[in-house]
Amino acid sequence: MAGAPAAFDVVAPAHWRAIDFISDLHLGAALPRTFEAWAAHLRATPADAVFILGDLFELWVGDEMREREFERRCVEVLAGAAQRLTIGFMAGNRDFLVGEDLLRNAGMIRLPDPTRLDAWGRIVLLSHGDALCLADHDYQAFRRQVRDPAWQGAFLAKPLAERLAVAAEVRSASAARQRFDGDAATDIDRDEATGWLAAAGAATLVHGHTHRPGDDAIGAGLQRHVLSDWDLDGGDRADVLRLTRDGFERIAPAS
Ligand code: MN
Repeated sequence: MAGAPAAFDVVAPAHWRAIDFISDLHLGAALPRTFEAWAAHLRATPADAVFILGDLFELWVGDEMREREFERRCVEVLAGAAQRLTIGFMAGNRDFLVGEDLLRNAGMIRLPDPTRLDAWGRIVLLSHGDALCLADHDYQAFRRQVRDPAWQGAFLAKPLAERLAVAAEVRSASAARQRFDGDAATDIDRDEATGWLAAAGAATLVHGHTHRPGDDAIGAGLQRHVLSDWDLDGGDRADVLRLTRDGFERIAPAS
């Protein structure tokens, strides 16, 4: 509670009727069905906004990646949807190196973590969730390192091929991978989360990252909604959390 971060404020225009939240799609060329379902949802959703709360991409080591074949298709989908919707992008632990070039090309607005959303008078705090997993000390130390601007500047100054090689190394070494992703068994810290909510004056938290979708109470009068990860290639998971004036509902992607 001591260090609840200041939240960025977003106010939903009064004429909006629905906001979709998705996260943890982990898009990559190896998951074509997941990509197609995501692209179809962005084309067909009747919502006024889609807020992506982290880990849209399996890996993002710099905005030069948007010139690669698969990532270029992702940018086309986002830019097409951005013509008729507001698309918000919050970084996750996989795609924290998404920069202003990609946001501009894709027509997305950046949502800092956390973001405080005021939608029709309802205050909702949005986070990827990894920063709240305090019990995972190894991951939090890694996170502090890679979120440091000096570290990022030095990493992004390396050639793209070298950055990709570093990422491949992390993924092949299980200890390093666990540091990179966080321990899957770790949930968010309730006290930290309720501290963030109090600081934001919010009663509802929406986050992803843990890949354990659900809705529960995290304190007196405090609710949280955990977003589903998406995997339609090896699995059968793809949920959208939709907020309207009437509240939250979980729906299948639009097609
Ligand atoms: Mn994550």
